[in-house]
This record gives sequence, structure tokens and C-alpha cells, in this order.
Amino acid sequence: MAAFPLPPGSTLGVLGGGQLGRMLALAAARLGFDVAVLERDADSPAGRVAAHTIVGPYDDPKALEALAAVASVVTYEFENVPAKSVLTLQALGVEAAPGPEALSVAQDRVAEKQFLNATGAPTVAFASADSADEAMSQAAAMGAPLLIKTRRDGYDGKGQRWIEHAADAAAAFEALGGVPVILEAQANFVRELSIIAARGRDGATAIYPLSENHHEGGILRRTLAPAEVSTRTAEEAERIAVRVLEGLNYVGVIGIELFELKDGRLLVNEIAPRVHNTGHWTQDGCEVDQFEQHVRAVAGWPLGPTAPHARVEMLNLLGDEANQWAKLAHEPETRLHLYGKREAKPGRKMGHVNKVHPL
Ligand code: AMP
Repeated sequence: MAAFPLPPGSTLGVLGGGQLGRMLALAAARLGFDVAVLERDADSPAGRVAAHTIVGPYDDPKALEALAAVASVVTYEFENVPAKSVLTLQALGVEAAPGPEALSVAQDRVAEKQFLNATGAPTVAFASADSADEAMSQAAAMGAPLLIKTRRDGYDGKGQRWIEHAADAAAAFEALGGVPVILEAQANFVRELSIIAARGRDGATAIYPLSENHHEGGILRRTLAPAEVSTRTAEEAERIAVRVLEGLNYVGVIGIELFELKDGRLLVNEIAPRVHNTGHWTQDGCEVDQFEQHVRAVAGWPLGPTAPHARVEMLNLLGDEANQWAKLAHEPETRLHLYGKREAKPGRKMGHVNKVHPL
């Protein structure tokens, strides 16, 4: 087992080779760490900036052994890492952060909401269903409209259906593939907010200001931060963040998506046990950004300051929008972050810009 704090020169393992892994690897390199990426694709955004790439699926015992041979600590850039892979890594003597509890809670929307409510973080009313009949009876009991989501493997708005009438629940259940689902009451939110927070190995917490998020077609389009919120809302979000971090005995950065209701109350939509797209603004808006903060936390370093020094509008560059790089590079207020993806498919996150303004 590694001794913490990990000294520079140690190797950090990252499961996943996408843009989040790439930005983690860049931040880790700045602190003197090497990164080993485990990724199915030999040519990945993270792999191209990491010291080592191990090519293979996340549950390949040989690939996990190769990762364990070089890495002192392993983290992830996405939450659907098989729990078994984490247990394998731990059995090989590698620290995994965040731990398997955080992953298992975040991988199942029902377990997630149960955990949140138990820890004192409010959510919409919900029920689970494992069959079309059960979906019908739960929908009848809750009343429409309802949002039905697969319990597992949903992202960017995929795996979800609205129903306007309780009688449509069976058809929605089948359309989602006949897999276990959650039925959620509609949140009548006025805004979507999120809070990015971190917890270190010593239990210290560091919390960023809230951001306001706008989605299109289920994909994050734009983040404004720091969000203009009342002191009460900011304090409530911080209270939720600390309860979640402590309840999961968490190490690393977490993203917590919130609904702001008309009366200012907050409901938690979901938690992402990793760095988060709505935290990209911190790269150009805060003293220590979410990527360095995550590296500090998992390496057992002290957490860094989260104070904002700018107001940031973050815009995702989707598909061929990244082709505007030459124009964007001319704008003095625009910081460009490109992910090095080879192919621009519609809706694919190719990069983002942070438009930086004085606070
Ligand atoms: P999710 O995959 O859970 O993050 O949901 C994607 C988006 O769907 C959210 O960002 C919201 O805009 C919307 N959404 C999710 N759950 C609800 C809900 N219970 N009520 C209203 N809107 C929701």
C-alpha cells in the first residue's frame, strides 16, 4: 500500500481515457506525477498526454495487473467502472479513490436517492420498478407526470422517458429495454445548479461556489459561475455537499447536480463521483481547479483554495463547433480547451471554452 502524501514522481492510475482523464493527467503532470491510463482504445485523449497507456477493457485482469504494477493509487474519470475492477485493484494492493461505496451508490439511481435522503439531502419523490406491472402500479400510486429512468447506465439524458399519464408506464418500461427503472416525480425547478466539492484523505473538505447550468437535448451546453444565489441557498448547497462527502467517506472531487425550486429550496438530482463538466469553469475561474484538487485529494496532499478570481461562462464545443478554434483563439476573454478527439460526431464533446470576466 502506498504511503501518503504520495511524493512527486509517483504514478497515478486513471481508469478511462476521455477528456476528463486528459485534464486530470495534465493537472497531475503539473504536480510532478506520472499518469497511467487504462483504456480500451490505444489512441485516446488522455492516453496522448499520459506517461503510460495500458490498452484493454476495464475488467481485464491482465490490464488491471499491469496498472497495479505501475500505479500507487487509482482513480476514475467515469462512474460506471465495474465494482469488481476496483476490488481487483484493491486486492493487488492499490489504493482506489473514490472507494467502491461511492461508486456503487452513484451507479444505481435508487441506491443514490436512498443514500441522499438518509443523509439529509432532499430529492424528488421516487419509486423503483423491476417489471411493467410494477411500473404501472407505482405510477398509479405516484400520479403523472413522471420521469422514468433506467436505474443504471444512463448519461447525458439517455435512458429516460417522460410519461404524461400513469397508464403509459408499462410502454415506457418496455421502451427503456425492460430493465429495472426508477420513477421520479417532476421537479418544478426554476434553475439547475451544481456544486463541486472535494474531500481529502484527512477528512478536510473544500467547496467551490455554485454554478448555474443549461442543458440542451440532455447535454450540458453552458455553465455560468459563480452562480448568483442567496446566502441561504449557498449555505444549503454546502451543507448538502459536506453531508454527501462525509456519508460516503469520500476521497476526491465530486459533482452534485441540484434543482433550485421557486421557494429557494434545493433538491439533489444526482451525484457524480468524479470531476464534472459543470466544474470546468474552475480551470480559469478559481485558484486551484477541480482537476488539481482531485489529484491533491487522491494523492493525500492538502486540498487547495477554491476561491473564485473571475466570473466564467463555460460553453461546451459540441461536434464541429470545435472547428471554430481559430476564431475563438482571437478572443482575448476566451480560454480554449480542446480534447484532441480525432472525429467530430454530432453532439460529441470536442472541447470547451471558458469566457473569463472580472468578478
Ligand atoms: P439526469 O440524467 O438525471 O441528470 O437528467 C438529465 C436532465 O433531465 C436533468 O439535467 C434535468 O434537466 C432533467 N431531469 C432529470 N430528472 C428530473 C426530474 N425528476 N424532474 C424534472 N426534470 C428532470
